[in-house]
Amino acid sequence: MKYLSTRGHAARPEFCDILLGGLAPDGGLYLPESYPQISRAELDAWRSLSYADLAFAILSKFITDIPAADLKTICDRTYTAEVYRFARPGDDAAEITPVHWLEAGKFGLLELSNGPTLAFKDMAMQLLGNLFEYVLERRGETINILGATSGDTGSAAEYAMRGKHAVRVFMLSPHGKMSAFQRAQMYSLQDENIHNIAVTGMFDDAQDIVKAVSNDAAFKAKYKIGAVNSINWARVAAQIVYYFKGYFAATKSNDEQVAFCVPSGNFGNICAGHIARQMGLPVARLILATNENDVLDEFFRTGVYRPRKAAETHVTSSPSMDISKASNFERFVFDLVGRNPERVAELWKAVDAGGAFDLSASADFARIGDFAFVSGGSSHAGRVATIRKVFEQYGTMIDTHTADGVKVAWDCAGSVPAGVPLLVLETALPAKFAETIREALGREPERPAELEGIEKLPQRVELMAPDVEAVKRFIAERV
Ligand SMILES: *Cc1c(COP(=O)(O)O)cnc(C)c1O
Repeated sequence: MKYLSTRGHAARPEFCDILLGGLAPDGGLYLPESYPQISRAELDAWRSLSYADLAFAILSKFITDIPAADLKTICDRTYTAEVYRFARPGDDAAEITPVHWLEAGKFGLLELSNGPTLAFKDMAMQLLGNLFEYVLERRGETINILGATSGDTGSAAEYAMRGKHAVRVFMLSPHGKMSAFQRAQMYSLQDENIHNIAVTGMFDDAQDIVKAVSNDAAFKAKYKIGAVNSINWARVAAQIVYYFKGYFAATKSNDEQVAFCVPSGNFGNICAGHIARQMGLPVARLILATNENDVLDEFFRTGVYRPRKAAETHVTSSPSMDISKASNFERFVFDLVGRNPERVAELWKAVDAGGAFDLSASADFARIGDFAFVSGGSSHAGRVATIRKVFEQYGTMIDTHTADGVKVAWDCAGSVPAGVPLLVLETALPAKFAETIREALGREPERPAELEGIEKLPQRVELMAPDVEAVKRFIAERV
């Protein structure tokens, strides 16, 4: 499988060439030259596979430059019930992403958050950790991952990379801005290759430092600085698998259809759903849910894509969806405009200059119905009411992001054909967002027994002023 850039750069790299990199040289995002088409016979054969075997079957279509036996081993080591061990009592952890039905056969949660950091980022990041280790070892190289996090991504990256020989992680977080649980999750890691840096500032200050260090080409090359951000193609590819798994769990035969509702931020998760559908998975609807940061909902309703300024970005109680522009959205628009890279380059010229684009009058947007998307938004009041209603009606506790999904799924239920099961992707467990759970339910969230008292473990973190040079020195002294 060869990969192309959404903006038309001539190179056609393979999977391992783009695994460790970020954007294409022209600023575009990588996508497969074409989406593998899944035959009915394949779909029938896949229905009974374990998660690891299904992951291998799907990923081997996108990863053709790793020997099959090695890729199989990587999938087997990644998708185990020991790693994804936090399924609700009664749900089968061996399924890796079990469905928790709220209404049997009709309406359920696809549990994606049973991995080590209790958020769906683990589904892809654990695979990425094992792929990095494999490719770096084969090449005799090392990498130093530098990132900034407001919570979920940083911890998922650290738990995926901990103890890996060829990888070090330097993760910046805003001092005092994460929950006690999130801090404990990250800072209690004692692995030598994991370095936590708490910056006395906001998330944006941490992000700016990462950008400044990455823009220093000499430093970046000398210290082999890499990233694991949400535009990484391997992360999107790994996420395709659970749409198939969820489909098989919710249907009895491959003549049936399923609808998915996805709490969205950077459009990575739902982009994988779009690709699964393009491969031939019978998906009736992809329902995109946003919180108060509604740039994507606005696009699907109006055809206008207008990324917000940082100052226009709301700080909400579903913080992992607080984005001002959706970094994976360019992948979908590439398909929407008929895979025309000149058109994408032109549209993103406006976006990259801080502007917007409007497709409402275009023939492309007239075809948007072919892609099965609908969208809606939620708010703090909406998610609190939803957490309460789901708990009262079904006895199930859900987190704030999943609550945005459930709220929008209810709002959009009329767009799902009768008899088609609807799965909301559960993107985090409630233990991560205790404050809003207390507000909604007047009680503490459920927490897996293994994580009781994690706030009391010794923490390993370096406190620093938001100073680019100090961060560079810190890295240079440790590699
Ligand atoms: C990252 C994240 C999201 C948003 O996912 P995207 O792939 O960025 O759209 C939603 N919920 C939670 C809990 C997350 O961590």
